[in-house]
Amino acid sequence: MRILIIEDDATIAANLYDFLESRGHAVDAAADGVTGLHLAISQTFDAIVLDLGLPGIDGLTLTKKLRGEAHVETPILMLTARDTLDDKLEGFSRGADDYLVKPFSLKEVEARLLSMNRRSSGRIAPRTLEAGALSLDPKTMAVRFAGNDVKLPPKCLRILELLMREPGRVISREEIERLVWGESQETSDTLRSHLHTLRRALTAAGGHDPVETLHGIGYRLRANES
Ligand code: CA
Repeated sequence: MRILIIEDDATIAANLYDFLESRGHAVDAAADGVTGLHLAISQTFDAIVLDLGLPGIDGLTLTKKLRGEAHVETPILMLTARDTLDDKLEGFSRGADDYLVKPFSLKEVEARLLSMNRRSSGRIAPRTLEAGALSLDPKTMAVRFAGNDVKLPPKCLRILELLMREPGRVISREEIERLVWGESQETSDTLRSHLHTLRRALTAAGGHDPVETLHGIGYRLRANES
């Protein structure tokens, strides 16, 4: 499995990292909520191990942003030091899939991750996004426009996916930058050049550009595409 660990306690994070890697998993780690959220959105993981108490963005807020704003459905195993039922229930209502109370055994973490992964693979595959003649399969990230395959770099795909999740809704430049690049890493020139690449590829495939610019506001798919 490809696993992301978001945990600020260096000892716990290192133990998790070493154990899961020794069991053959590909592991990435973040020590704060902002970095973790960025990794969770910009890369693909089979599961996320998420600490509840984190500097920056706490685990519950991170889960809420991941599910509600970025529409990322990667299964989440929440780690909590607070052994109260209320916290657990709140974690689940915000989209965590399972939880473990600290201290936990490393084998138990892996067992929960494997079980979450089996459950999520058994779920109905995420539906193909469609907007007019445009389609995007979230499982394979294959894009078709007017019957033609569209090849796009990963960040352009992610921008298109954001636009297609809610056709017609205007998404601001800041929101796209935050969801695709994280909080502080890139300049607006980067977004501009990716939008240019995206629009050129879509125009080449479908004969017109479905992305509408609302100056000073943001971007959306044109009404006739939704
Ligand atoms: Ca912590």
